[in-house]
Amino acid sequence: MTLFEKIIARQIPADIVFEDDQCLAFRDIAPQAPVHILIVPKKPLERVGAASQADSTLLGHLLFLAAEIARLEKLADGYRIVINNGSNGGETVPHLHVHLLGGRQLAWPPG
Ligand code: AMP
Repeated sequence: MTLFEKIIARQIPADIVFEDDQCLAFRDIAPQAPVHILIVPKKPLERVGAASQADSTLLGHLLFLAAEIARLEKLADGYRIVINNGSNGGETVPHLHVHLLGGRQLAWPPG
């Protein structure tokens, strides 16, 4: 069971900001910006690169939720949505998660 599956199962505590039947969103434990939220599917999909055509609706829903949560967090000045995929991409938890970052000016390009 991955760390995020344990959070979804309420076996590990998290600061949950949003939940629906398909997804859970909670604050990152090591925030990289004033607002840093992870949006994860409840289905244990490892990473975006492991998604199939059947997951397309779920992937779209994750992005829609990121924008909805950005509105709830009042990130009207802008924000960034990040998905790290695989080791070169910086993925450390093998359960798909969308990072929502905001609340400060973000640099580009990312490191
Ligand atoms: P990634 O590096 O894209 O796989 O992102 C994993 C993220 O999970 C990192 O930003 C971590 O800070 C975050 N993280 C790790 N453990 C926890 C936890 N228990 N609760 C919330 N976020 C966590």
